[in-house]
Amino acid sequence: MDNCIFCKIVRGEIPSTKIYEDDNVLAFKDLHPVSPVHVLIIPKIHFANLHVMSASEEGLKALGEIYRALPEIVRLVGLEEKGFRLINNCGASAGQSVMHTHFHLIGGRSLGTRIL
Ligand code: 5GP
Ligand code: ZN
Repeated sequence: MDNCIFCKIVRGEIPSTKIYEDDNVLAFKDLHPVSPVHVLIIPKIHFANLHVMSASEEGLKALGEIYRALPEIVRLVGLEEKGFRLINNCGASAGQSVMHTHFHLIGGRSLGTRIL
């Protein structure tokens, strides 16, 4: 996707602070962190959102690759013991602003018991 910000980050056309990378997955620091740890985890392949992604075999495979990488990403940001919140905003009304599926990995402070 030529004009997708996250595809540009995957291609190295926009700089990012990378935390983890493999053939299928990239994790990098969010530009506007909401907690001491705020990392975005994305598939390297472009899917517009989680709903679209989970409707195809290719997308399900890419989701599996993200979950495969998750323990290592969590270890790299030091949240193994503390725990974390993993968030996906799917669609504009859920607050999705970048239309390339991504998970927010958030932690490093007490996040409370409420989602909102
Ligand atoms: P959404 O609102 O779509 O769930 O989350 C998009 C996230 O991407 C936001 O938290 C925003 O700060 C982050 N973001 C937007 N543009 C960039 C960018 O160019 N680089 C990085 N590292 N994060 C970005
Ligand atoms: Zn993209």
